[in-house]
Amino acid sequence: MTLSRRSVLQGGLALAVTGAMPARAEFAPRPVINDASRLNPTSVARHIALKAAPTDDVVGRIRQEIAAAAAEGRPFAIGTARHSMGGQSIPRDGVAITLTGGHIELDKAAMTYRVGAGMRWFEVIRALDPQGFSPAVMQSNSDFGVGSTFCVNSHGWPTRYGPFGATVRSVKIVMADGQLVECSRSKNAELFALAMGGYGLFGAIVEAELDMVPNVSLEPTYVRMDPSRFADAFLKAVETDPAVKMAYGRLSVAREALFDEALLITYRPAATQPSPLPAVVDHGALTGFSRNVYRLQTGHEWAKDFRWFMEASISPTIAGAATRNTLMVEPVVNLASGDRTRTDILHEYFVPPDRFKDFVDLCRAVIPKAKAEFLNVTLRYVDADATAVLAYAPQKRIAAVMSFSQEISPEGEVDMMTMTEALIEGIKGLGGAFYLPYRLHARRDQVRSIYPRSEEFVAAKRKLDPQLVFRNTMWDAYFA
Ligand SMILES: Cc1cc2nc3c(=O)[nH]c(=O)nc-3n(C[C@H](O)[C@H](O)[C@H](O)COP(=O)(O)OP(=O)(O)OC[C@H]3O[C@@H](n4cnc5c(N)ncnc54)[C@H](O)[C@@H]3O)c2cc1C
Repeated sequence: MTLSRRSVLQGGLALAVTGAMPARAEFAPRPVINDASRLNPTSVARHIALKAAPTDDVVGRIRQEIAAAAAEGRPFAIGTARHSMGGQSIPRDGVAITLTGGHIELDKAAMTYRVGAGMRWFEVIRALDPQGFSPAVMQSNSDFGVGSTFCVNSHGWPTRYGPFGATVRSVKIVMADGQLVECSRSKNAELFALAMGGYGLFGAIVEAELDMVPNVSLEPTYVRMDPSRFADAFLKAVETDPAVKMAYGRLSVAREALFDEALLITYRPAATQPSPLPAVVDHGALTGFSRNVYRLQTGHEWAKDFRWFMEASISPTIAGAATRNTLMVEPVVNLASGDRTRTDILHEYFVPPDRFKDFVDLCRAVIPKAKAEFLNVTLRYVDADATAVLAYAPQKRIAAVMSFSQEISPEGEVDMMTMTEALIEGIKGLGGAFYLPYRLHARRDQVRSIYPRSEEFVAAKRKLDPQLVFRNTMWDAYFA
C-alpha cells in the first residue's frame, strides 16, 4: 500500500487531535430546552422528564432533585407544557423538570377534586366527564398543566369567575428546604397568595384541590355590535343574566379597519338536556377548514375579512349545542402553523371595563404600525382577584387575549418588542395590566408599576427561598 504525504499528515493530525482531546464518550453537550415561542433555547444542566403514575412518590422524587440542585448551587424549575413564552419554566444552567401525569380523586359531596400538578386539562376533563362534572375554570385550551395553571393564575371563559385561583381550595407545595406544605385561604395563607400566580418561585406544586361544576349542554347566542357598546353589553350579560354560563367576545382584526366590529357570544343551558350527556368530543369537522382560514390571515387581509364573515355571519347559523366539557377541551394544535420561519406570540391585557373604548383607541394607534400579523383577539370577563400578590385583576377586568404571528428574525423581534412596550405603556395609563407568561418585553419599571406588590413578592421570595433555588428566566429579567 502506498501512502501519500497528505494521508500521512492527515493521519498524524488526527492522532494528535485524538490524543489531546478527552475521549469522545466523555463529552456530553448540555441539554437545551425551549418553550412554545421557539425563541428561548436555553441550556440547562439536567432535564428530567417526570411522568408521574398515580402511585408514584412524586414528592420524594422532587425533593431529591431540589436538594441536588441546591447542593450544586443551581436553579430549579418545573414546567408542564412549556407554553409560557419567555422562559418562565426554564432555569438557565439549572435543573429543569417536565412534570406530567398524576392522580385525580373526586369528592362529589364537596364538589371538589384533588389532582396531581402534572395532570393536563384534557386528562382532567376525561376523568370528570363520565362522572358528569367539569372544571370550574381553566384556560381556553386544554394542553396546559394544573400546577402551571395555578402558577400563572390563568383565566378562562366560564362565567362568572375571577382567575383560576378563585376556584382553588388548597395546594401542596414542596419548599426549598424540602418541607411539604399545604396552603389555602385559611392555612399558610401568605404562601398561598404568593404561590398563586407566583411562577413556581416559591416551591414545587405537587397537588391541588379544585372546584368542579356540573357538566351541562350549552347553546350559543351571537350578537354583533359596535365596539363602543361591547363593555356594557358584556358586563350586563355576565352580571345580570344567571343563565349565562360561558361568554367571550371578539373584535375584527383587519389592519385597515382594526376593531371596527365586535361580537359577543354567550352560552346558556340548552332547552333540552340529553340524558345522559354525550361524552366529551374533540373538535369536529370545521376544525381543518377553520385552521386553514386562521393561518391564511398572515399576509392576507382578505382572509381576515373572510374569517370575520365566517365568525360573525355564518357561525351563528350553524353553531349548535355542545357540552361545557366539549367546549373546554379544545387543543392548541387547532391553531398550529407549519411555517417554521414564523411563530405565534400571545399578548394579554386586562382592561378596566370603563376604559374599554380607550383601549380600542390604544390598539388602533399601536398595532397597525407593527409588522407582526394580528391574528385574533378574544375578550373575557375576569372578576376581581383579592388573593394573589401578583394580581393582574385587582378589580374586575375585561381580558383581551391577542395572538400575533411574528417573523423569526432580529427584525421580527425588534418589531414585537416595540409594539409590546407601547401597548404595556398604554395599558398602564388606563389603570390596567399586562399578563406575565408571555415574552419578557416589559421594562422593569413597567412591571413594578403595573404589579405594585412586586417588591413585597421579591422580599418574601428572598425570605422563604434565601438560596434562590426556584428560579427561571422571568425572575432573572424582572425580579432578580
Ligand atoms: C395558545 C395559548 C392559549 C392560552 N390561553 C390562555 C387562556 O385562555 N387563559 C390564560 O390565562 N392563559 C392562557 N395562556 C397562557 C397559559 O396559561 C400559560 O402560558 C401557562 O403557563 C401554560 O401552561 P403550561 O403547562 O404550558 O405552563 P409552563 O409554561 O410549563 O409553566 C408555567 C409556569 O409555571 C411554573 N410551573 C409549572 N408547573 C409547576 C409546578 N408543578 N410547580 C411549580 N412551578 C410550576 C413554571 O416554572 C412556569 O413559571 C395561553 C397560552 C397559549 C400558548
